[in-house]
Amino acid sequence: VSISGRQFADVAGDTAGTVLASTDVTEVVAAVHARDKFLAAMSHEFRTPLTNILGYAELLQDDASLSPAAKSDLQIMMRNARHLNHMVDDILAASLTGDEAGGIRLPLDLAELVKQTSDSFSPEASNSGIKLDLATETALPILGDRTGLVRVLNNLVSNALKYSQPGTTVHLAAREEGAWAVCEVADEGLGIDPEDLKRLFTRFQRSDAAVRAGIPGTGLGLALAKDVAEQHGGELECRSEVGVGSVFTLRLPLRKAKQHMTLS
Ligand code: ADP
Repeated sequence: VSISGRQFADVAGDTAGTVLASTDVTEVVAAVHARDKFLAAMSHEFRTPLTNILGYAELLQDDASLSPAAKSDLQIMMRNARHLNHMVDDILAASLTGDEAGGIRLPLDLAELVKQTSDSFSPEASNSGIKLDLATETALPILGDRTGLVRVLNNLVSNALKYSQPGTTVHLAAREEGAWAVCEVADEGLGIDPEDLKRLFTRFQRSDAAVRAGIPGTGLGLALAKDVAEQHGGELECRSEVGVGSVFTLRLPLRKAKQHMTLS
């Protein structure tokens, strides 16, 4: 049952009473659960054939008898299969609620995660003609859910590549800022206008520019990424200018020295 209340005043402005309204939301809650169950089941079912497609496509890539034109077609197929894979991941993550979404917190190094993300996207970046630049200094100890944070970094970097043109650079940086471990993903791409920026972290929101450019997406990744950052006591922000590019900043609390000793 959902209860809402409102106070009302008499002509003199004094509180005269309160109206309480109770609504039976059993059906709404059941419908939300059914939707999440369906999305989770669907994305699970999509995963296995997709992994197969990607696996066989990777094998084919090494086939020396393929013509350069066939190789280039194959790369387009793989890029799209990877996009589909990211979307399935986002839908699955969006369907997880409560404890399932939280994950286990372990001692991690954010700088290492950023480096691994850069390594895993470097083939996609070079196929798209985009330079992926990495700047990490020291280790950045944090406590985190590895799967959730990898998903956040994957989303930020795949967006930066997706919304950029060939010949541009995506800058990935990890550094310490006071009590924060900070990761910055900066691109020289499409940019986001101020109206779209206001709704950037809302589920299913996509900019007109992205839709018009025919760039595939679900509008889920950033909303999920912000949830994960906040679940870690951190934050995710974006500065952007149309035609200039976007900078996404992820801040997570650095693991204190005392925590360090007891947990490692
Ligand atoms: P999507 O799957 O659509 O990329 P996201 O939640 O990751 O979903 O992003 C939401 C929207 O924010 C995108 O549809 C796009 O309009 C915009 N966006 C996200 N990242 C960038 C970026 N690096 N450059 C320009 N626009 C971006």
